[in-house]
Amino acid sequence: MSIYRTHILVPIDEGTVQAGVFEVKRTLEREIRERGLEGEVRVLETGTVGIVGKGVLLAVYPDRIYYSGMRPSDVALLVEEHLLKGRVPSSLKHAPLDLQDGAKVLHRTGLTLPQKRVVLDKAWKVAPDDMREVLASGGYAGLERIVADRMTPEAVIDEVKKSGLRGRGGAGFPTGLKWELTRNSPGGRKYIICNADEGEPGTFKDRLILEGDPHRIVEAMTIAGYAMGATKGYVYIRGEYALSIERMQKAIDQAREYGLLGPDVLEHGFAFDLEIKKGAGAYICGDETALLESLEGKRGNPRIKPPYPVAHGLWQEPTSVNNVETLANVPGIIARGAGWFRTMGTEKSSGTKVFTILGHVEHPGLVEVEMGTPLRELVFSYGGGVSGGRKFKAALLGGASGVFLPEGLLDVRMDFESLKENKAVLGSGAVLVMDEDASIVDMLFSILKFFAHESCGRCAPCRIGTRQLLNLAWKLRRGKGRETDLDTMLRLAELMCGTALCPLGQSVIMPVRSAIEYFRGEFEACVKKTTEEARV
Ligand code: SF4
Repeated sequence: MSIYRTHILVPIDEGTVQAGVFEVKRTLEREIRERGLEGEVRVLETGTVGIVGKGVLLAVYPDRIYYSGMRPSDVALLVEEHLLKGRVPSSLKHAPLDLQDGAKVLHRTGLTLPQKRVVLDKAWKVAPDDMREVLASGGYAGLERIVADRMTPEAVIDEVKKSGLRGRGGAGFPTGLKWELTRNSPGGRKYIICNADEGEPGTFKDRLILEGDPHRIVEAMTIAGYAMGATKGYVYIRGEYALSIERMQKAIDQAREYGLLGPDVLEHGFAFDLEIKKGAGAYICGDETALLESLEGKRGNPRIKPPYPVAHGLWQEPTSVNNVETLANVPGIIARGAGWFRTMGTEKSSGTKVFTILGHVEHPGLVEVEMGTPLRELVFSYGGGVSGGRKFKAALLGGASGVFLPEGLLDVRMDFESLKENKAVLGSGAVLVMDEDASIVDMLFSILKFFAHESCGRCAPCRIGTRQLLNLAWKLRRGKGRETDLDTMLRLAELMCGTALCPLGQSVIMPVRSAIEYFRGEFEACVKKTTEEARV
């Protein structure tokens, strides 16, 4: 077995693929070969590091040097200077990272901020398709514990309940309780479904979890299947997530090969298998009941609830639909215990949360931190502050169906309860930062356009309401609005909240109310401009 003096990690995700990572990697491997270094330097593909917009990244270990924006033409210099002469070429760009103890983000100030990486702990360190590495780094330890300790399905559910894990897809429903309800519902077959139809604008955390550590999801779903008495699981992945689908399929095939899926999992007497289904790009299929319809081969229209999927889900059988990030927490909870999980986060929002910080920030990207971390810390520390030294205006939390928060609420803690107290939601974990020059009116218009486009049209309040709201926002934006339009918009959104069939129509109130409540002056200025122009 070779012992390498240097490892070069090449994070591969959709972002780096688009930046040309494969060409850089091929050039690197060729240079290493031509200089006779292949016995000393090993090049490894890993999952994401979590920073975006920095092009192709290369991490050199054990030196802990992180290059960003790498092009094929930079590679010869890196090999000549760094690998052969031991000098770090200053002409190459360096990423603002320090990934030594768990992932850290190193800012210009020299301040090092530790993240709490649980669901992403292996994403940048382990080659996701190298089964030996996956197992050596603790993969499938949760499943092993179930077998070794002869845990009953009830004991597994109990452990998840004790951990306090709540759904990370937005609703925050207790995961253990959902599994228990599914297990206890009468039905011939039961199903576990991983909802990876991530369609919320500005959100890509599930994609990066799937790309970085697909075996974690295979393990989690197998544990869930065992706990609920399900023998079949489906991973419903957004069709555009090509790399996620490829890696997930490979992980499923490898798990079958190792006896971690199949008719007798780990020779423990239970059968479980997984299948991938691709979504066709409809935002509404992120709703669990629309997803079920789509899985059954029908148009993805939401169902009327109740009955809930835990009793009447896929093919009318008891089904638990869980988000990717929710499931990604399960292996750790089973392997290390509920007590360990509860040491992170707050009393009612235990564990960590993955946030995508985007918009007008210096370091856009993805971070995993404890629940309860203040919004200010996410924006100004992990995000590096507002870009270009401009002032902070607002953060849109949770994507299109989220809430605008003004500067006065920057100290709100990012957990289910604290956000609820402030009429906000954790949602998908997207944090879109807007600087002083950004227009809330324009942003709300874009959100309403998105909703009008994505409304499936099944119920009148949403079909007509989203269109009406869009028209009103368009008038305001074009300087044709009236003072009464703002109250009309609020009334309409409230009406939709109480009468629309599914979360899409019901959640339009969130961005509309927060935009008007916190930034009313900006909307009124549009109306005032209209009145003045009419006078002239
Ligand atoms: Fe369709 Fe909108 Fe009604 Fe949901 S609320 S069922 S998306 S029309």
